[in-house]
Amino acid sequence: MYESWEQLKNDCLKCTACPLAETRNNLVFGVGNENAEVMFVGEGPGYNEDMQGEPFVGRGGQLLDKYLTYIDLDRHKNIYIANMVKCRPPENRDPKDAELDVCIEWLRHQTRLIHPKIIVCLGRISAQRLISKDFRVTKEHGVFYDKGGILFMGTFHPAALLRNPNNKPEALEDFLALKKKITEVCSHTYDL
Ligand code: SF4
Repeated sequence: MYESWEQLKNDCLKCTACPLAETRNNLVFGVGNENAEVMFVGEGPGYNEDMQGEPFVGRGGQLLDKYLTYIDLDRHKNIYIANMVKCRPPENRDPKDAELDVCIEWLRHQTRLIHPKIIVCLGRISAQRLISKDFRVTKEHGVFYDKGGILFMGTFHPAALLRNPNNKPEALEDFLALKKKITEVCSHTYDL
């Protein structure tokens, strides 16, 4: 159990617990406010994220930032963003189950330190791990599930929205639903 972010980050940055360590340029630990009430969890780093060491910095990240701005959220101010795996899977393939099984421990440590009230799963990989193994983003996006006192909601991964722009209006609805939920259950997100 970690007491401090510094200790957690130091240990995580040295992690070689799965084969993804061998091919990474940078481990992508996470970004944001460590006292955030709202946490976003994506799948894993892509090329740009691996090169820069920050989650969601490519075209998908720019789209995510637009949605965040639309509901007055900011990755450097009032939320925290992390991924299911901290190192880039080669050729942008899905993370393997074994890699997810190992890396989820880092996410658990992050979640324990943050104590979020809401976790938004960006895409199928995180929603199927954190909400339910049969989660279908196209059918269940935008619905909040209470799990152990944390509200979980799944929505489209920004990269999927770039491939299928038809889903953008539904994604926007999800973010508006998120804003409403934040005003109901969070105490300081919109004061930060
Ligand atoms: S993906 Fe996760 S478990 Fe694998 S080496 Fe990176 S930090 Fe460690």
